[in-house]
Amino acid sequence: VKSGRVHQITAFSNERIKAIRSLDERKGRRALNQFIVEGLSNLMTAEDRGIWPRTIVVRTGAADADQTRLAAYLDRARAAGSDILEVPNALLEKLASKDNPQAALGVFEIIFGAPPTIDALKPRETWLALEEIRDPGNLGTIIRTAHAAGVSGILLAGTCCDPHQRDCVRATMGSIFAVPMVPQSREALLALIASWPGDTIATHLKASVDYRKAAPTRGPKLIVMGREGPGLSDGVAAACNLRLRIPMDPTIDSLNLAIATALIVYNVRRDRLPNT
Ligand code: SAM
Repeated sequence: VKSGRVHQITAFSNERIKAIRSLDERKGRRALNQFIVEGLSNLMTAEDRGIWPRTIVVRTGAADADQTRLAAYLDRARAAGSDILEVPNALLEKLASKDNPQAALGVFEIIFGAPPTIDALKPRETWLALEEIRDPGNLGTIIRTAHAAGVSGILLAGTCCDPHQRDCVRATMGSIFAVPMVPQSREALLALIASWPGDTIATHLKASVDYRKAAPTRGPKLIVMGREGPGLSDGVAAACNLRLRIPMDPTIDSLNLAIATALIVYNVRRDRLPNT
């Protein structure tokens, strides 16, 4: 691999800085197929999986510092081919998120996962489908939870928020690199449910089965969660072979989507998680 180069940049109008700023918008991320990850620990989660940023933006002098975790990471990243842009603090602050700015941000290539191959699914696998999720914070929390619980991948069905949006990436705490994300149409989700070899589990406020009492036992699991606000569409809920409800105080309308997902996923995977 060709080593990356270090560039000193001071102007906000610099072309490379402009390209990075364009990644704040979904349009820009789509055009360049890149997204931003903030914070050294998240960059190092990517490194654990052998994934390197194309470009890293840091404060001027960071790459020359001796024996800091950041300088050592920058050395390894350069050797792996990442370019380093050294910028003044004021410029870095403009690129970083407002609340909790980090000392480094990385620009990574966007990679989506492939949908599951029905014949290759193993009985112990769990997949998660989100129908029309709209809140990036919820999506990021769900990605992190799915990683923790060993979910194989997340299907983003219909019009979903962008998993590479900054707030979502931040909420994943690095798990964005660990869980394959698969955008697909609602029709493709319905076809997948129809051909799924194990239990397909819808979550619905009006379902009659308490999630604690359901004991899904058949093969790989597909858990389907609905959208904040309207919930799961009738068609998708009806297509699943199990419909589960999380009991609540009767004066509450519903649980937050990410919390409901965590409860269901952990319950479905309770025998698949390491015992301590
Ligand atoms: N108002 C919607 C409805 O009537 O279905 C509920 C929206 S809820 C915030 C979003 C999603 O979270 C639901 O589609 C479901 O997947 C999940 N959810 C929230 N609370 C739940 C509960 N008590 N039981 C089962 N699923 C729940």
